[in-house]
Amino acid sequence: MPGEPEGRIADGGLKQRMPDRVFSGSLWAATAPAGPATLPLEGAVRADVAIIGGGYTGLSCALAAAQGGAKVVVLEADVIGFGASGRNNGQVIPTLSRIDPDDVPPRIAPEAGGAAKGEQLVQLVADSAKFTFELIRKHKIECEAVQNGWVQPVHSPGRMKLAAKRVKAWAKRGAPVELLDANGVESITGSKFWHGGWENATGGKLNPLAYVRGLARVAIEAGAVVHTNSPVTSIERTGSAWTVKTARGTVTAEKVVIATHAYGDTFSGSLWPKLMQTVFPVRSHQMATQVYPEEVRATVLPEDHACSDSQGDLHFFRWDAHGRLVTGAALAVPLGWRERAPARAAERVEKVFPQLGRPRFDYVWHGYVGITWDRLPHCHELAPGVLAFVGCNGRGVALATSIGTELARALLGTRIADLPMPFTPLDPFPGHSIARKFTSFPILLYRRRDAKEIA
Ligand SMILES: Cc1cc2nc3c(=O)[nH]c(=O)nc-3n(C[C@H](O)[C@H](O)[C@H](O)COP(=O)(O)OP(=O)(O)OC[C@H]3O[C@@H](n4cnc5c(N)ncnc54)[C@H](O)[C@@H]3O)c2cc1C
Repeated sequence: MPGEPEGRIADGGLKQRMPDRVFSGSLWAATAPAGPATLPLEGAVRADVAIIGGGYTGLSCALAAAQGGAKVVVLEADVIGFGASGRNNGQVIPTLSRIDPDDVPPRIAPEAGGAAKGEQLVQLVADSAKFTFELIRKHKIECEAVQNGWVQPVHSPGRMKLAAKRVKAWAKRGAPVELLDANGVESITGSKFWHGGWENATGGKLNPLAYVRGLARVAIEAGAVVHTNSPVTSIERTGSAWTVKTARGTVTAEKVVIATHAYGDTFSGSLWPKLMQTVFPVRSHQMATQVYPEEVRATVLPEDHACSDSQGDLHFFRWDAHGRLVTGAALAVPLGWRERAPARAAERVEKVFPQLGRPRFDYVWHGYVGITWDRLPHCHELAPGVLAFVGCNGRGVALATSIGTELARALLGTRIADLPMPFTPLDPFPGHSIARKFTSFPILLYRRRDAKEIA
């Protein structure tokens, strides 16, 4: 669980910590350009805004707030991108993961803005990949970004109806989407495994660690101060401001953003009572193959799309910039993950792309996805001036960038009610501490359902 990262002592930064071999063993750690030089927080400083967490949410928020003239300090417990932002598959996907656009508006409570607010959230999601790639281009962030589209192939003929429904729903929100028959999907993916699917042309892929390091660089250039190796241990009210403490320093600020997501109790207890009881950290294993020769590569995802299919036990694939296929697998129980996860993924690659043969995996790592019980992103105003966001549900590259940027508008004076996301009260999951031990188990049900649908 993220509460105890491997090779590391979760101690609030007071003891000597070991390097994290899972993080440093990733493809992205081996290939991303170095991030900006940063130091731990020392002493007492004042700022307008303290942002806790140096991932996409925290750093996109820092960038926009600093651009708006705020004095911003970011506190990251480890290195930039240490959480999901530095470990993910790098697919830039402008959708939510398990909830369709038309289903969002009716699920937003009237107190949170109701259906109208839900529709605004859907539009934010629809525009999120476009927004992310534009930000990357504008700031010249070198992160192997390729905006050649994201494709969701379907694993059974019955699922074509769902693909058609999704195309209709996203087209209604102005997204450049297209329904694909089996031949269309085969020509985009190079695989006969699927029955059709759909594509969104604004999606794509990037090197996720390079992207988050680039965000840190541009946030610093805009005036934000970023401290790494600075785990926050508490947030306390001091008069009209908040004091955010680390082992060696404090930041006193009018506004605080908690952007720790699924890693929110990795370094200390949950920083805010009950916040971590609203999100389930679910481990996702990632891996990258050997480099394939150009002629083999040209037969798989030949137009360089990012691809994740319609199965509950998601099959996802993309090329990196150097000819490695980056994929992954979920396990119900993590025991023996270093052998079991690659074995499962290798079997899958061979089945979907027989032309690749049995792959060897040169890099194997994992990270924690922040899942909410209702699969919706959750934004909160925890107390006057304290904002938080959790719940990317596995689709956070574009979504966290967009939401982080919107949170900055609130820091700069926009009313919460005028942001395009619903803000809800904390709704802790009953029995969360027990339930979070079993969050990977639904994968067994998904696999059973997928197999039945494929048969
Ligand atoms: C394996 C994996 C694959 C994924 N694949 C994709 C994908 O292909 N496409 C997609 O869209 N999404 C994907 N996601 C989801 C996406 O990566 C996340 O939604 C996104 O990175 C969340 O960003 P964030 O900034 O909110 O959180 P994070 O990146 O997790 O950042 C939280 C940060 O807070 C820091 N922190 C925690 N506690 C403290 C503290 N006490 N003090 C200071 N700092 C603290 C952590 O060290 C961490 O760096 C994937 C996630 C995982 C784990």
